[in-house]
Amino acid sequence: MPDVDVLVVGAGPAGAVAAWQAKQAAPELDVVLLERDRAVGAPVRCAEGVGDAGLREFANPDGADWVSRRITDVILEAPDDTQVVLANSGVGWILDRTRFDAFLAAQAAAEGAAVLVGAEATAMARNGGDRWHVRVKQRGTEEVYRARVVIGADGVETMVGRWAGLDTRVPARDMESCAQYVLQGIDFNPDAIYLQFSTAIAPGGYAWIFPKGVGVANVGLGLVALKTDGRNAREYLDAWIARRFPAGARTGYTVGGVIVHTTIKKSYTDGVLIAGDAAHMINPLSGGGINNAMKAGRLAGCTAAAAIREGDTSERRLAAYHKAWMDLLGEDHLKYYRLKQGLEHMDDAFLNSLARSVNKVAPHKRTLGRVLTHAMIRHPQLIPVVARFFV
Ligand SMILES: Cc1cc2nc3c(=O)[nH]c(=O)nc-3n(C[C@H](O)[C@H](O)[C@H](O)COP(=O)(O)OP(=O)(O)OC[C@H]3O[C@@H](n4cnc5c(N)ncnc54)[C@H](O)[C@@H]3O)c2cc1C
Repeated sequence: MPDVDVLVVGAGPAGAVAAWQAKQAAPELDVVLLERDRAVGAPVRCAEGVGDAGLREFANPDGADWVSRRITDVILEAPDDTQVVLANSGVGWILDRTRFDAFLAAQAAAEGAAVLVGAEATAMARNGGDRWHVRVKQRGTEEVYRARVVIGADGVETMVGRWAGLDTRVPARDMESCAQYVLQGIDFNPDAIYLQFSTAIAPGGYAWIFPKGVGVANVGLGLVALKTDGRNAREYLDAWIARRFPAGARTGYTVGGVIVHTTIKKSYTDGVLIAGDAAHMINPLSGGGINNAMKAGRLAGCTAAAAIREGDTSERRLAAYHKAWMDLLGEDHLKYYRLKQGLEHMDDAFLNSLARSVNKVAPHKRTLGRVLTHAMIRHPQLIPVVARFFV
């Protein structure tokens, strides 16, 4: 029965950074990172957009081979296709998640963490002792790992949280179903991301074009199933693409869920921390979760390392992780969530008129600040939709 100090379940951004940071904080600890898929970073279920500042806390994107595209513009689109091109919207990046996730896992490995692919946690129990016993299926055999701290970074379908007795349920109204194609041979500005808001196109969410290069982009949408007319996300997306890019070649397809909820009430218990999507640590307005996951992973890894060094992995000690997360971003997410609820009442006619009135501002003055001020006058709830998109 392998004995480890920290067992991280899931090698997405949250898990890889958790293993990396735990090992960096306390090199003497045995840290193991499990990934159930056969390769870290594949398949990709993501539009791959991140903000510059959050990303740079962990890695330098300049010239990195895990970047697909540098983004300098944000174009908002109304339901009637009226575009609002933001001036000075800042820099963001479209990642190559396959390479990026592998890069993060490699950082963990370089610090000395063991990275196991094709290794799935299938059950976990405490059995009265001070360690968690985690069943791990790998290459057709099962092994039980004994761990002082388990970090559940296992994404939207988290099981670690449930096994540990934490409440990770998501209300149906806060779960977005997403569908996305990689489209080739399409015409758009490759330096801009496009976000289109419309109840008819993506009820409860939005549609996006995130450039991977010239003429190639992640084109997708997220919607709330409860608000649809009965069609699923792919059917909505097919309708949108048929209108916008009828000649685009579909060379990739993915579906996935995004939890647009607030952080779970309790992300810790004796010997367990939950991080990233698994703990609903996603910006509920934008649905962006990559930078959030890395920040949560860092907190989880460092908290686990410190707690083990102190010889106290009790729920009481690990509560510091939840508090640190809530101070860092969790409280902000509560505010965004309330605003999201406010935005739900805006109809397509209002969005069309808002875009037209914002476009009366001179283009070079159409900075985010000016647009937001304008939007605030018309509809105060709109402000953070864009302002916090890249958190
Ligand atoms: C269509 C779509 C588009 C998106 N676009 C963006 C975007 O543009 N920008 C952005 O910031 N966010 C985006 N997101 C959200 C973003 O992908 C997530 O927030 C982010 O990946 C969360 O990282 P994570 O590490 O918490 O979870 P994940 O990246 O989901 O990683 C979890 C990992 O755990 C593994 N795993 C699960 N269970 C087990 C187990 N039992 N044992 C071992 N391994 C396990 C999984 O295989 C997976 O690799 C998008 C999401 C979707 C679905």
